[in-house]
Amino acid sequence: MKLKFAVIGLGSFGSTVALELIRLGHEVLGIDIRDAMVNKHAEQLTQSLIADATDEKVIEELGLKHYDGIVVAIGENLEASILSTMALKNAGCAQVWVKAITDTHHRILSRLQADRIIHPEHEIGVRVAQSLTHPQMLDYISLGNGWFVVEIQVNERIAAHRNYAQDMQFNDIQLTLVKRGRSVLPPPYRELVLQPGDQIVLAGELDNLLKFAKQIF
Ligand code: ATP
Repeated sequence: MKLKFAVIGLGSFGSTVALELIRLGHEVLGIDIRDAMVNKHAEQLTQSLIADATDEKVIEELGLKHYDGIVVAIGENLEASILSTMALKNAGCAQVWVKAITDTHHRILSRLQADRIIHPEHEIGVRVAQSLTHPQMLDYISLGNGWFVVEIQVNERIAAHRNYAQDMQFNDIQLTLVKRGRSVLPPPYRELVLQPGDQIVLAGELDNLLKFAKQIF
């Protein structure tokens, strides 16, 4: 489905988000106060505009409240980030996602009802550390309240662990999907013998997933 997004601030983070949204087939309006940043990405984005996003009139006139989502990617200038978020929420915009730099910035943004607060450096740092510690872990998603979905590449060691189904049950972990080559194997997986190279998706509470990881890795 083609959605309509606006990205405010076309620095390295904002422009990466904007270009990826374009690659995913969406419409993207890019806004930056500096003409150089707008000119740099004008050809790749659906529409781009030199404007000050702290100006409530600009937000109104652009009809940003009708957009599916807005990313405020102004980092260093906290005042501009806060004022833009305030203007967007006052205008009735839904799904305002804002890049935060400090904990104080985060607290102010959450008071302003930002719909999602992003800490790119922190989030990527955590991912890199996790991937280095568990090279078998391909990806993970936090579901909130300590629940995670984790994608794992099965190696020889995991494949040799024949009691994985019992260990999962013991640790209250669900094996939700098994991909072998290009196909997804149909459940149930209770009797399935895992093979090196399989990709499996597990769901469970973080503490249980860590206990299970110690048993299988
Ligand atoms: P990044 O870390 O993503 O590279 P940056 O260091 O280039 O960001 P930031 O200060 O974080 O720059 O701001 C990102 C962009 O936001 C800049 O291109 C800047 O011109 C733009 N910007 C700053 N204030 C406003 C504003 N009031 N309205 C629109 N754009 C703004």
